[in-house]
Amino acid sequence: MTIEVVKRSLLAVNDRAAEQNRQRLDAFSVLAINLLGGAGCGKTTLLEKLIPRLSRDMRLAVLEGDLATTRDAERIAALNVPVVQLLTEGGCHLTATLVQRGLAKLPLTDVELVFIENVGNPICPTNFDLGEHARIAILSVTEGDDKPAKYGHLFQIADLVVISKIDLLRATDFRVERAVGDIRKLGPDKPVLAFTAADPTTVEPIADWILQWRDRRNVRAGAEHNQAAVA
Ligand code: MG
Ligand code: ZN
Repeated sequence: MTIEVVKRSLLAVNDRAAEQNRQRLDAFSVLAINLLGGAGCGKTTLLEKLIPRLSRDMRLAVLEGDLATTRDAERIAALNVPVVQLLTEGGCHLTATLVQRGLAKLPLTDVELVFIENVGNPICPTNFDLGEHARIAILSVTEGDDKPAKYGHLFQIADLVVISKIDLLRATDFRVERAVGDIRKLGPDKPVLAFTAADPTTVEPIADWILQWRDRRNVRAGAEHNQAAVA
């Protein structure tokens, strides 16, 4: 009984902070994308390839989640984009409250898109809304093709799934059709894109997806704005 009350209030606190984050981001016209996936699936590596490509079209910033180190933030800082390290001090997921403190340190007036790299963990980050507008789930071929079936929630809540390290496909028994089949059981229209840092062309469809998603959102926000103006 007591445990259930504690759990509920924790999630309620998180959801309130997430809603505040979304309002703050919207007030500055900043979009946020939450990157989720297991430890070592390639979240930071994907960002390292995406950031130079997307920087041509939009101003970026990054919130880097980590249990204990600033190593990923150092890799992002080398790309000359604003980055804030969110240290969970052992916690296995980011919370909206921690993200709130990170957003307060970013120059939001000069940012159009903020990537939030979650703690490497395919399970509980999926239960914590951070106030983001979209989620990208990453699955590396070295993790195994059974992960979409085992960690369904991660792939269910994702707007885009990236299958990473596809250059290593031959060294594993990962069956792409099997993984994609299980992902599509969770969302028949779910976009799935392949990526490897070894082939720079594989970042292009992912960057295109993000730009098209941004354009669709901006059109919708514009329509709502016009509607409000008419009313
Ligand atoms: Mg990382
Ligand atoms: Zn956790």
